[in-house]
Amino acid sequence: MAETFFLHGADYNPEQWMKLKDTVWPEDMRRAKEAGVNVLSVGIFSWAFLEPEDGVYDFSWLDEVMDMLHRNGLKAILATPSGSRPPWMAQKYPSVLRMDNERKPYVYGARHNACYSSPDFRRKVTEMNTRLAQRYGNHPALHMWHVSNEYNYDCHCPRCQKAFQEWLKQRYGTIDNLNDSWWNTFWSHRFSGFEQVESPTTPSFLGEWESPNHNLAWRRFCSDHLADFFLLECEPLRKYSPHIPVTANLMHTFPGIDYFELGRRMDTVSWDNYPRWKNDERDRDISAWTDFRHDLMRGTGGQKPFLMMESCPGAVNWDDVNTLPPPGTVLYQSLQAVAHGSDSVQYFQFRAGRGGSEQFHGSILPPDGSTDTRAFREVCDVAAALESIREVCGSVTRNPVALVYDWHVRWALDYAWTAHRFHQKYEETVQSHHAALQRAGYGVDIIDQTSDLSPYKAVIAPMVFLLREGFAERLTAFAREGGLVYLTYMSGYVDEEDLRFVTTPPLEALTGVRTDELDAWDKGRENCFLWQGREWPIHEVAQLCTLKGAEALAVYENQFYKGLPVLTRNPVGKGLCFTLQARVETGCLTAVLGGLLQEHGVEPLVKELPAGVTAAARYGADGTEYLFLQNANREAAVCALPDSWVRLDRTGTAGGEIRLDAFSIAVLKRG
Ligand SMILES: [Zn+2]
Repeated sequence: MAETFFLHGADYNPEQWMKLKDTVWPEDMRRAKEAGVNVLSVGIFSWAFLEPEDGVYDFSWLDEVMDMLHRNGLKAILATPSGSRPPWMAQKYPSVLRMDNERKPYVYGARHNACYSSPDFRRKVTEMNTRLAQRYGNHPALHMWHVSNEYNYDCHCPRCQKAFQEWLKQRYGTIDNLNDSWWNTFWSHRFSGFEQVESPTTPSFLGEWESPNHNLAWRRFCSDHLADFFLLECEPLRKYSPHIPVTANLMHTFPGIDYFELGRRMDTVSWDNYPRWKNDERDRDISAWTDFRHDLMRGTGGQKPFLMMESCPGAVNWDDVNTLPPPGTVLYQSLQAVAHGSDSVQYFQFRAGRGGSEQFHGSILPPDGSTDTRAFREVCDVAAALESIREVCGSVTRNPVALVYDWHVRWALDYAWTAHRFHQKYEETVQSHHAALQRAGYGVDIIDQTSDLSPYKAVIAPMVFLLREGFAERLTAFAREGGLVYLTYMSGYVDEEDLRFVTTPPLEALTGVRTDELDAWDKGRENCFLWQGREWPIHEVAQLCTLKGAEALAVYENQFYKGLPVLTRNPVGKGLCFTLQARVETGCLTAVLGGLLQEHGVEPLVKELPAGVTAAARYGADGTEYLFLQNANREAAVCALPDSWVRLDRTGTAGGEIRLDAFSIAVLKRG
């Protein structure tokens, strides 16, 4: 959703201060204005105060909060409270409790653990959301709905088993088809009815844990079931306040949900960003980690601007080692979000609580409300910086390079009995390609296998182990029309159902390469290849292949596959397909991908970036170009740019040689 100004705010839990509300609430409003905060997310964990007993509702305090926010010129992102429920609900309706994969029922406690098949929970959520939507849908403070909190789902209760079986019936039609799709003749596992199919017990050995097809189906069911529950939550919100956008806060690469599917059901995607900065040279990698996640989250929202719903204005408290980020880090991570497409900077949380597991989590205000603190000053700095680049808000990205990250591939690899059985490093591999593209000066869109390829000049798809229906054909058509395709080892091994191919694998015509064998190594083993006059080491995974039309650009140098192709090139119609058959370091990927892309006319945002500096771009509706230069080094860097760029964040500073302070982001405009 296009904003005319950046949202700047935090999660706010005024109900935790109910007994001190006469002093704390007015102080919060004053502090919010002092900090340049313009939005607060409320109601996220408020169920016990909204419905203290079954069917007994009390909205008086939230009325007061919403009116208070409006009176003070603040917007409200109002949450539905399903992320955590009051104890009375579990006591009265035990069906709301989940059952784990060893069929052990949960007892009441913690959060994010309701059964989404429970008719009681579904009814209570619908009743609550209906009341919230009817009461606040037209409230002048209401800016957006925040559905639940950090959704997850994995319940093995009898109702969820039934729902799984119904989902299987829908997907497979007949039990015979399911048996064939899961290769169930293996070990005599052919089912004679859907009612025999249990959820897998992975990672325990209690029941089915080994079948990759069965496990994949469960992950797909859980993801779909949760997406349906999200729609159930949205129904009253969209009915009574169709003009108010709906979001849910995501958790980047969380494995339990296909966020592309969930994102398509939202008006705006938002996510919770918690990089664990170390205040040393590791921050370059942590910055790249964060860039990847921002780009992924933007991708799940169809490349539209997203919201950074949470970040920390200090140290988090839930890591093993909770390192304090040094001065300036809050500004860096805030502008970094904007650089990659966020229209907001929001924190967890506004005022820290006195107790609970988050009592020592970083916050804008400590429990006593002091403002002469570093965190408060840094939040004020962010407010000023956002104001200085306000015109960037609502602008979009327009990157020529797409990188494929697909939850179905991830799930298939999680259960794949090959290579590195328990850690195939799919996420790390895609992330390494992302970092390489950034080092080579490119901005990157992240897409899944169902996304439209037509906006791109190049599609980079590492480890697409599982091919979803139609992807190979669309990728081939993309190359034929002049696109550049790049694939790696462990690509196109199985079809949508996780079955190997009995005919020529669909990627063979595209790559011009037949995959023969896969080799996985431990730490003691290495190989290498020569490329652009350098020797590049290979580690962990190497694939042996036979050329079927492609040419070898580089070959393995050692061991029994010396001379076999490792980097290949295949002309396809007006385009090209490259493959890299082995795992290499990010530096090698930078050389390979940067070289191939530039050679084929795909230009980076900036050529010759200093080490540790990356670039990102956004484009206004009027065509204005905004460029962000991120210096993730803990020392200053200098970047040469054409003179046509001017700095937006510092008046009067022209382009040419841009000096980037240590760990800082420069915002420039083409003018
Ligand atoms: Zn359940």
